[in-house]
Amino acid sequence: QLSERLQVVASYVEQDAILADIGSDHAYLPTYLVQKGVIKKAVAGEVVKGPYESALKNVQREDVSDAVTVRLANGLFAIQEQDGVDTVSIAGMGGPLIAKILDEGNSHLTSVKRIITQPNIHAKAIREWAVNNDWVIIDERILKEDGKIYEVVVLEKGKASYSEADLLLGPILSIEKNHVFNEKWLHEIDQWNHIVHSLGEAKNNPIAEEKRGQLNKQIQLVEEVLQK
Ligand code: SAM
Repeated sequence: QLSERLQVVASYVEQDAILADIGSDHAYLPTYLVQKGVIKKAVAGEVVKGPYESALKNVQREDVSDAVTVRLANGLFAIQEQDGVDTVSIAGMGGPLIAKILDEGNSHLTSVKRIITQPNIHAKAIREWAVNNDWVIIDERILKEDGKIYEVVVLEKGKASYSEADLLLGPILSIEKNHVFNEKWLHEIDQWNHIVHSLGEAKNNPIAEEKRGQLNKQIQLVEEVLQK
């Protein structure tokens, strides 16, 4: 049984898609999607030998080796032209690492129509990458599982611009404002206030002053969205 987090990612993979799951670890996601009959084939990419071997083992055990090709490769370099990949998923990493993977392997995205990302932290890095590389956010989700909060950001080709608040909080999540979203950002505000308070004790320090100013601006930005 797939975690709720990966089930949300899976729900954005369209019927008959050809998927590349990057940083696949045990290849749970592509294996599940093949077994459910959602996809016919997938590439499971892993850059680290241990997880790569786990993926190979799991794919064999679940008898989906014909459908899931496991490759030891860095990021999107796991995708080969003849695969015809149209959907990419990158889940369970920090936003900056996901953005770096997308940036470095951009030339491997030519046939890709949809990118499903699941950043554990700093989803902003992915939204910024999207704007700078002509992808738009078509949907977003936020969920809590086992005490941890996760975001899912789904991209398709297109041009868009987002406000500073939308880049930070997510344009769709900010409209929806569900209870997990409120919990996450109230917690962030709490932490920032803590830092602002301790920076306030460093008197006549221009660097601390600047940082305090930035944090206060950020707090105001988020509070405005929460109060809207
Ligand atoms: N995607 C799975 C999930 O969401 O449950 C596994 C997440 S696991 C925490 C992150 C995986 O990404 C690790 O197995 C790691 O080896 C892999 N990884 C990190 N950087 C990568 C890269 N540049 N290319 C491919 N895999 C990478």
